[in-house]
Amino acid sequence: MLKSRRPSKTYKPDLKLLANRTILVTGAGDGIGRVAAIAYAKHGASLILLGRTRQKLDSVHDEIAERTGQESLIIPVDLAHFDANSAIELKRGLQNEYSRLDGILHNASILGPKTKIEDYPYAEWMQVFQVNLHSAYLITQALVPLLRNALDASIVFTSSGVGHRGRAYWGAYSLSKFATEGLTQVLADELSEGSNIRVNSLNPGATRTSMRAEAFPSEDPNTLPTAEEHMPLYLYLMGPDSKGKTGKAYNVHDW
Ligand code: NAP
Repeated sequence: MLKSRRPSKTYKPDLKLLANRTILVTGAGDGIGRVAAIAYAKHGASLILLGRTRQKLDSVHDEIAERTGQESLIIPVDLAHFDANSAIELKRGLQNEYSRLDGILHNASILGPKTKIEDYPYAEWMQVFQVNLHSAYLITQALVPLLRNALDASIVFTSSGVGHRGRAYWGAYSLSKFATEGLTQVLADELSEGSNIRVNSLNPGATRTSMRAEAFPSEDPNTLPTAEEHMPLYLYLMGPDSKGKTGKAYNVHDW
């Protein structure tokens, strides 16, 4: 039988892949963000854990400290209320702590209601865009100066299958992911000259998390891949092995 040549099957990140790198993960308290933060720390990175629920972030902090001896910085923030002033505050705070930032994983998202566009409530539409898109734009804008100080830096936006092909009832979530793909492309193009920052999107596909369970309540979660199984691509895009790759849309299922 032919062996698979897909990178996901053959990519073996060095255990020091992210040594001396500082990486910010949004939505780091649960689901894929939690697993990615721990995977990055296990590969040598210092973590900035940003998320909504302090208790969950503390638990990720403690797990990282236990496994690696590294302290992470915790930033409890509700992205539903993140605005231009919050971005200034974040920038000031991080500039006081760090001389540079090596990567951002934009992972936090909400699903919003699964309903027809014609019935979609405006307030929830706005909230989905606020959490999934606008806060990511503000965080990125605030932190590009710190990313510019890195030798090579990576911004990873989290996408979805419905960010490539619209599907009934996925409403604002789907549209926010289409926009995330657009943001990836525009920013990658803008940073392609005169910067060392690469920008890509990553679609994890169906993954065993609470968001997936909310979207498909009758599905058996045991039939789904875990977030741990996707970590080779999360590591590849965050680490120096992906240097030179920018403006691309990655999907765990065809990587
Ligand atoms: P999840 O289990 O629901 O976790 C989402 C994380 O985002 C949680 O840590 C959550 O914090 C945080 N978050 C949500 N709203 C926030 C807010 N207002 N402020 C700050 N943090 C907030 O979701 P997941 O399945 O891991 O999804 C991770 C990413 O993958 C998302 O971008 C999602 O769109 C994408 N994705 C997932 C799947 C899938 O099948 N799971 C498929 C395609 C794409 P709390 O826990 O404190 O609420």
